[in-house]
Amino acid sequence: MTDFSIAVRPERRVELAAGLTRVRARIADACAAAGRPADEVTLVAVTKTYPAADVVALAGLGVTDVGENRDQEAAGKAAAVAGVGTVPRWHFIGQLQRNKARSVVRYADVVQSVDSVRLAAALDTAATGARDRPLDVLVQVSVDGDPARGGALPGVADPERGLDRVAAAVAGAGGLRLAGLMAVAPLGWEPDRAFARLAEVAARLRADHPGASVLSAGMSGDLESAIRHGATHVRVGSALLGMRPTLG
Ligand SMILES: *Cc1c(COP(=O)(O)O)cnc(C)c1O
Repeated sequence: MTDFSIAVRPERRVELAAGLTRVRARIADACAAAGRPADEVTLVAVTKTYPAADVVALAGLGVTDVGENRDQEAAGKAAAVAGVGTVPRWHFIGQLQRNKARSVVRYADVVQSVDSVRLAAALDTAATGARDRPLDVLVQVSVDGDPARGGALPGVADPERGLDRVAAAVAGAGGLRLAGLMAVAPLGWEPDRAFARLAEVAARLRADHPGASVLSAGMSGDLESAIRHGATHVRVGSALLGMRPTLG
């Protein structure tokens, strides 16, 4: 008989519980400082490089949303976790190649990193037929407009990477639902400057797409600033699970 159980070491559970308590307190404090109810902000636990057992342990501690940035790792982890009956909401947060769309739509509930019309079309094709409801999509924003890195470009009329064009492509795709925006503060930018600009971009997007209410911003180092500027989702890895052994 195959054993599908995933062992969570008790010491690890204690470690994760402590990390979760600290992160939840930071989120609550940041919400209080911003005059926002704490339940407005969803914690996405970024479990990349960490094992399926950590996802199971976090779910047992009440974490509902999990983020991963590599398809191969995420697909295996999602299958292992589902095998023991744990079903978190899986967020794909990494750079995504179009040839991985077919795999990602099978386990992801949200893809946060859509930054081109072509990628939106590939996800739509993959999602249509493979899923019984549309895939939630966040358009990733390049806050500094550097086209060499990931993210759609706000205020730029590029037919492939312009933010308005990418958002319209997602909104018009039957297999996708435009849920909002995601961003990472650019290196070398003050988080407050980056997230203030992101908030302006988000307000403009909502004028055209009122349902696009999600704003995924803020990580271990800058979640307070992101919450101050309206983040509805923070993506926290190292502050919760520990420093990653490798860059990921
Ligand atoms: C790894 C990662 C995170 C989490 O980063 P930490 O600094 O470990 O909290 C958040 N967002 C994205 C897109 C990531 O790749």
